[in-house]
Amino acid sequence: MSQISRETQTMPSYRLASRLTKNENSLVTIGDTCVGGEEFVVIAGPCSVETDHQLLGTAWEVKSAGAQCLRGGAFKPRSSPYSFQGLADVGLTMLARAREFTGLPFVTEVMDTNDVDLVESYADMLQVGTRNAQNFALLKRLGKSQKPVLLKRGLMNTIDEMLSSAEYILSGGNENVILCERGIRTFETSTRNTLDLSAVLTIKERCHLPVIVDPSHASGKASYVAPLAKAAMAVGADGLMIEVHCDPASAWCDGEESLDPQQFTALMRELHAMAPHFNRKISLAVPQAKLD
Ligand code: PEP
Ligand code: MN
Repeated sequence: MSQISRETQTMPSYRLASRLTKNENSLVTIGDTCVGGEEFVVIAGPCSVETDHQLLGTAWEVKSAGAQCLRGGAFKPRSSPYSFQGLADVGLTMLARAREFTGLPFVTEVMDTNDVDLVESYADMLQVGTRNAQNFALLKRLGKSQKPVLLKRGLMNTIDEMLSSAEYILSGGNENVILCERGIRTFETSTRNTLDLSAVLTIKERCHLPVIVDPSHASGKASYVAPLAKAAMAVGADGLMIEVHCDPASAWCDGEESLDPQQFTALMRELHAMAPHFNRKISLAVPQAKLD
């Protein structure tokens, strides 16, 4: 909270999330990984859990490229009821198997209050998707969870509304919230959404919670993901969520925005090289030699 004087500011409705209540940055841990500190944390994996082969193949690839956390949807919020809806509990067991094999903690979306018990019994972090960013019953239930929550920005939500959604979780007693800018809906239709990178600056100024960026859902286009990911590091995000698929052309969901393992590895190398210039570090799971 650099420029703002505490005394002259009136307390916003998101008082627990506000820097006026807590000035120092909050740290949130996913498994053994700490988000919000010096470490730039990359969460990567497929849009949806499809098969053991797809998930494990992708999980090994993202781990060896340096990701610290796996992502994968088992409950999918799809615009059409005829689209693939996710493997539900079967998908969760596959994610748990991938964690067992690779050691990567995982984040997965929970869409329904009734599913929270089930999802939190498996996942290392619970994701609230853009469409549920103002599902207040769900947010209140997550306030009672022992697991960290990744809260995505609602696609038509202002930053104040996003922080108020976070406040629902914090005020329920769960302090472990990571915010995710994933693009908002604007008049522009050339990209899937419009990535609001300045949101990172605004949130950081007002709020002590970690902020990550999802350039995959923001752009909807694989070739835009790496440049936007690098811009996110430059603007001060604490990490990224990136869709990676072992074979994007055969993905059941969001293949057009998914990086293949080679593209993801190349991006991680670039981020690794950039990190010291932005006072960040990326601890890679692989020996340094593999990066040179
Ligand atoms: C996702 O991350 O799987 C997802 C559906 O993202 P969003 O809610 O941001 O669209
Ligand atoms: Mn997706």
